[in-house]
Amino acid sequence: MTLMTRLSYLASSAVRGVGADIKCPFDGSTHTRLVKRKYLVTALYECQECGLRFRVPKDTVQDNKTFYQDEYAQGFTTDLPDDGQLAQLTATGFAGSPKDYAGYLKVLAAVGVLPGQRIFDFGASWGYGSWQFRQAGYAVYSYEISRPRARYAAEKLGCTMLESVQSLSGPVDCFFSAHVLEHLPDPKIFWEAVSAALKPGGIILSFTPNGDPAYEQASPAAYHQQWGKVHPLMLTAQSYQQMARQYGCTGQTYSSPYDFSDLKRDGVSLTGSELLFVGRRA
Ligand SMILES: [Zn+2]
Repeated sequence: MTLMTRLSYLASSAVRGVGADIKCPFDGSTHTRLVKRKYLVTALYECQECGLRFRVPKDTVQDNKTFYQDEYAQGFTTDLPDDGQLAQLTATGFAGSPKDYAGYLKVLAAVGVLPGQRIFDFGASWGYGSWQFRQAGYAVYSYEISRPRARYAAEKLGCTMLESVQSLSGPVDCFFSAHVLEHLPDPKIFWEAVSAALKPGGIILSFTPNGDPAYEQASPAAYHQQWGKVHPLMLTAQSYQQMARQYGCTGQTYSSPYDFSDLKRDGVSLTGSELLFVGRRA
């Protein structure tokens, strides 16, 4: 994050730090425990009911929306390419770029989501992923909270951007989300979108930084860098299971690097830097 963003974050954290709200943002449980602190004013908590890890102080939904319109600057994710850069990226199909979705396309195939099927790309940023899915033969519908990025995706990459998940013309076969859930102030926003978009029997794919204690144990320094202002939530295997169950879904978590030939097996190691939840709606 930039210095100004960090300073304003510290200022707002300090103001709201007193008597901070440490309830679980998913289920409202007060049965939470402190995991660790950062910058004196920020803390990572874990819900003892659902296993979700979350940053305190928390954001409001309005704070979050304002942040993503104006302040969010994570290098390649949000710097919109100019026409020349975009022409190069599309000419090579994004191959070898930081936004190459070849790995995600392999996961789609491994879980049986096939070209021709309908995908909802939740948190599509400026459309690089939605574009690659469409090139691979999927029917893609996308949502992005940031208006400038959504406009870019529609105008420059021809993505079908929806004002909200409720604007979908019918249910989708796959609810896809890459590095979005960890940015939300309230994970119920994600699950309510799943409920609105996904057909019964449909597949959920959610990729996030790995917030699981298994990764914390394996790589404590890398883990510690992943939570804070930009990531108010840290997803754990337990939290995915519990949240999914409450929304009538089942599933399994995996971590990178993925074994594409074996994404149905239980009990795999969760020590990689990225966490993947593969869910199914009942
Ligand atoms: Zn909870």
